[in-house]
Amino acid sequence: MTNKDLADLIFPNITKTIEDYEKEYPSRNLPSGAIVTRFAPSPTGFIHLGGLFQALIDYTIAKESNGVFYLRFEDTDKARELEGADEIIMHTLTHYDLIPDEYEFNGKTVGNYGPYIQSERKEIYHAFIKHLIEIGRAYPCFCDKEELDLMRENQETMKIRPGYHGRFARCSRLSIEEAIEKIKNGEKYVIRFRSNGNFDNKFEFDDLRQGKLYLNENDIDEVIMKSENMLPTYHFAHVVDDHLMHTTYVVRGEEWLPSAPKHIQMFEAFGFEAPKYIHTPLIMKKDGETLRKISKRKDPEARMSYYEELGYPKLAVIESLMTIINSNYEEWHTSNPDKKFTDFKFSADKMSTSGALYDLMKLDDISKNIISKMTKEELYQESLNWASTYSETLKNLIEKDPDYYKSIINIEREQEKPRKDIAKYSDIENLIWYMYDDIFYNKEKTYEWKNITDKDEINKILNTYIDKYIDLSDKDIWFNNIKLMCDNLGYASNMKEYKKDPSAFKGSVADISTVLRVALTSKSMTPDLYEIMSLLGKDRIKDRFTKIKEG
Ligand code: GLU
Repeated sequence: MTNKDLADLIFPNITKTIEDYEKEYPSRNLPSGAIVTRFAPSPTGFIHLGGLFQALIDYTIAKESNGVFYLRFEDTDKARELEGADEIIMHTLTHYDLIPDEYEFNGKTVGNYGPYIQSERKEIYHAFIKHLIEIGRAYPCFCDKEELDLMRENQETMKIRPGYHGRFARCSRLSIEEAIEKIKNGEKYVIRFRSNGNFDNKFEFDDLRQGKLYLNENDIDEVIMKSENMLPTYHFAHVVDDHLMHTTYVVRGEEWLPSAPKHIQMFEAFGFEAPKYIHTPLIMKKDGETLRKISKRKDPEARMSYYEELGYPKLAVIESLMTIINSNYEEWHTSNPDKKFTDFKFSADKMSTSGALYDLMKLDDISKNIISKMTKEELYQESLNWASTYSETLKNLIEKDPDYYKSIINIEREQEKPRKDIAKYSDIENLIWYMYDDIFYNKEKTYEWKNITDKDEINKILNTYIDKYIDLSDKDIWFNNIKLMCDNLGYASNMKEYKKDPSAFKGSVADISTVLRVALTSKSMTPDLYEIMSLLGKDRIKDRFTKIKEG
């Protein structure tokens, strides 16, 4: 009996050889220097911050080298699969304009290196496993869960490194005849890779982020095919797929670095060249004074849907990630404000070697900047798109009178130093509600009076203003009139004079403006008061003043 008999018994219907597959997946014929990357999520739920971080690197390095960025669904862990996750993943990539060049989705395949869904590649894996069995580099293992648990307990008490290695790799010593007999008897088995490494030896591993590392050789006989469904494990599928699909750079989470020695060994067993690796850092956050890993379960900002729900412009999210991907991104962006992030030259060695710190305050700053530069038409469109999915109230406000809405959001916009108070579209409602009479009159609100709180004095100011001084025809005239009123009522119209001797006045022009502002909006801080008043118009101003007097 030979290894071939064993391989034929396990895979009787597999007739294609690995050479056949080599022919089916020829070189990609790309210009020299082109990099092929892939985003390879398991469809188990939302894309997380770490996932988008990787996809962004994949996309950037593929695009800047005229290479290929493809999407592969790694769905070999059927128990963890979540229905609809592929849709969420595709939606998120599309939302951020990280559209893969090759993918398979909704029954449609784009690209010649598919199938791009691992569960559809079973036959391919089987051919490759069959080959390994034939050359003696893989074998069936019949150890059940209890035996493996016992092995681990023994290793623990003996203080031996855990795992199926050396003398613990019992089934590696079964003869071909014994293995064949067990299979014929219907015993359950997995297939393990037969490692040839020595854990005491180190080898050089070049991680493009961390530089040269010296890792221990792998001596564990890793499971490469599970018994249920005969599906491959991640380790094996990674080797076969990234070889056949001609991935040149594998960008994946740091948690996979300890498995790299296994992968390298499997590439070697087939005589394939291994891809280059970039193991990405953990994404960290500041929690009080400590830094910790962002948690998928605890931190809502870990899920990419969080940013869409709150209405952050996609570019803000991308740029906030770029700043933690490469330490020199911000500097580059400041000197090249008009360039796209894809024009940035990514360098793996400029990635943080420790964790990458994600800061929501920074995201807000980036986002405020981006929104401040939008024209009123752009902000109108973007906010309406967002509201159509996420806010019925804002959508209704916008649609009731689009031009009025545009005028409101245009206050202090489209000018050299635009306002920067909107970080996300969900902020807008809270910044504009007072411009709508039905909300203004019906909302529970507190008037944020400041220095002047006396009712009679407030009424006197409002009456005097509406009777004699209101003039909205021009901003200079408007302001001049307010100053004239100040002089008339005993308030300083000139701030310098006021500061020299505050006791000579009842207050200043700033106090008067605040009274007008609070009376009209209930808020002590708003954008430009003249623009607010112009939009409200004299009649509505009068009505709002009357409400104060009555209240
Ligand atoms: N499916 C793996 C994961 O979701 C992908 C790792 C890789 O990119 O190779 O962690």
